[in-house]
Amino acid sequence: MAIKNTCVDCSSKTKWIIVTGGVVSGLGKGVVTSSLGAMLKTQGFSVAATKIDPYINIDAGTMRPTVHGEVFVTYDGGETDQDLGNYERFLDYKISRTSNITTGQIYQTIIQKERNLEYGGSDVEVTKHVPEEIKRRLFENASKSDADFMLVEIGGTVGDYQNIVFLEAVRQMKQEGCQIMFVHVSYLPMLGNVGELKTKPTQHSVRALNGAGIFADVIIARSTMPIDAPRKEKISYFCNIDPQDVISAPDVPSIYQIPADYAAQGLGETVAKHFGFVWKGNGALSKWQDFAKKVKSLSGKVTIGIVGKYFDIGSCTLEDSYISVIEAVKSATYALGKKPDIVWMDSKEFEEHPEKIKAQLDAVDGVIVPGGFGKTGVEGKIAAIKYCREQKIPFLGICYGLQMAVIEHARNLCNLAGASSTEFDENTPHPVIAILPKQAELLAKNQYGNSMRLGDYPADLTSGSVIAKVYGSNKAIERHRHRFEVNPEYVERLETNGMVFSGRSPDHKLVEFLERSDHPYFVATQAHPEFTSRPMNPQPLFKGLLEAAEARSKNK
Ligand code: GLN
Repeated sequence: MAIKNTCVDCSSKTKWIIVTGGVVSGLGKGVVTSSLGAMLKTQGFSVAATKIDPYINIDAGTMRPTVHGEVFVTYDGGETDQDLGNYERFLDYKISRTSNITTGQIYQTIIQKERNLEYGGSDVEVTKHVPEEIKRRLFENASKSDADFMLVEIGGTVGDYQNIVFLEAVRQMKQEGCQIMFVHVSYLPMLGNVGELKTKPTQHSVRALNGAGIFADVIIARSTMPIDAPRKEKISYFCNIDPQDVISAPDVPSIYQIPADYAAQGLGETVAKHFGFVWKGNGALSKWQDFAKKVKSLSGKVTIGIVGKYFDIGSCTLEDSYISVIEAVKSATYALGKKPDIVWMDSKEFEEHPEKIKAQLDAVDGVIVPGGFGKTGVEGKIAAIKYCREQKIPFLGICYGLQMAVIEHARNLCNLAGASSTEFDENTPHPVIAILPKQAELLAKNQYGNSMRLGDYPADLTSGSVIAKVYGSNKAIERHRHRFEVNPEYVERLETNGMVFSGRSPDHKLVEFLERSDHPYFVATQAHPEFTSRPMNPQPLFKGLLEAAEARSKNK
């Protein structure tokens, strides 16, 4: 029987690399996927990526950061998985919201179609219609991006009940004639008592993958240490792949050395052979290699305190809640030739022990108050901002951070006692931060998903202001994710005693940026500038903060 090639939808030219995970979660499949993309880009190919998340949520927007990690916001307003941030940072392109597919989206579409009688009266089946809808979305992404390579990362671990239909969809794609390479990311635990890296869990996960009808072309063998030749041979023998297609992927000090590390093991040639092109060598990967080398050999540090509040579940996932902020701080510090030293400060602790504010903030060179939602820890954030203002500590406020800076200024310098945000104090006498009517309407109907100002919004920057200087322009476009705004009714009253609203929406109704005229670097934005920072091209506001912080560190 001839097999139908459904690849017509992606002009048949798309080459697919499907990345699956085995043994445990948290192996860094996103980094593997991005690194493969970075390698392919050096060969002159265009590359796009899609992340599949097997959860039923429509998007990551309604999930707690302490559970799911950061919500990465795309330029077109998608609230997506944090892996899309890795794709953007490595591949340096603006990824669309459709690049994050969830089980929820698939089912929502199918159920809606069924309700609209679009299945013409037939049974609607998990085994047929679900993979069909998954493939339709993948093909649509491929044809929209028009990229030579589409990388698809399937979230979760092979053997999970949840991602079976996604594995089935990509199995069908292969069977139907798409050009596909399967890359399986697995884990070799180090057993201390025998002093040996064990391959058995990888063998089992490859078998589970085979059970889904998928045969790995490459195994990325993650571990705490490099995988030696005997281990590679064992995996090769038991998993039916050549030893050179088992890539040793130990933990490394900088994720940016990974593309060059994989390429050095011949992964480029393997991919090229699979798809029938010639690998032009690894020379162009030296930009990543040099960058990773530079990062490893930096001397001197700049210390940045991040006053956050998503710390409730131990330190393991702490970084995930603020991953793009961390990456933006790192790249801005690297640009100065210094090592980033990030100090976590819990705003809830500042509320219980205000005496800790001075000790902790005096010890850092600059402070970031990042985004957040809800009441907890806000007074701690406000107190920290007051200290930064008074002590002239370089400060960057992000979204919630801007809102807290406005409240602090209103209460302490504008005689507006009890000023607050209606997000956590509906009865405040001075709602300096308030919700806009359109958003209020959605919330009244309990429509929390998508009730925010999301994605790219432009701003006009005041000529000669600090922010116009750091951006090198009188215009800025940044990504947003918030419901509340600086209340236009208070703007005039607030613009006094050092507060300058130096960036506004093009209609000048909304505050987008603020700065202080009485401070070396006190800048805040209603947007999330961390999402557009790139490893080798730091975002301007972070660059400005780090420069000011470095100057402070020298004068200490
Ligand atoms: N909670 C605030 C709002 O919704 C700020 C959101 C954020 O920091 N992303 O407006």
